[in-house]
Amino acid sequence: MVEVKKVGIISCSGEECAGGGISRLAARHVLESARPGRTVTICLPLFLAGGEEERYFARTFPTITIDGCDKRCAMRATEKLSGQVTQALTVSELLDSESALAAPFSQRQLNGEREKQIAKVSAALTEAVDEIIGKPAAKDLLTPTTPPAGIRLL
Ligand code: SF4
Repeated sequence: MVEVKKVGIISCSGEECAGGGISRLAARHVLESARPGRTVTICLPLFLAGGEEERYFARTFPTITIDGCDKRCAMRATEKLSGQVTQALTVSELLDSESALAAPFSQRQLNGEREKQIAKVSAALTEAVDEIIGKPAAKDLLTPTTPPAGIRLL
């Protein structure tokens, strides 16, 4: 039996509503801070364009999709091009449709409320990763990536 060591996270690339931005920032938070070394974020546009390594990864390793809204573009693309996903999360279900379908925002427009939403979605993603490969002991967690001065990960 192959031991599963990494989980792929594919986030939608929606620019039309807040849910797309929330899903991308939550995915980055899990990759860089919550579960570094245990997760890989796959680029959806490259995946769609035919990146063979990305498609191979999604076929071989468990994959979680996180979509901004219930159109579930990342989940549908992954299942069409690669295979069934292990878990499909959506911001509209984890928060609510109103928050997910709100106007898109830039990093400069992040506020306390938005950061709480991103934290809630990243917590759900982290829990989904742990369900697949188990919760890591503190000693097994890599040090989170430290961003250069002036750059925020969230
Ligand atoms: S899932 Fe929703 S937010 Fe994400 S790309 Fe599709 S339509 Fe846009």
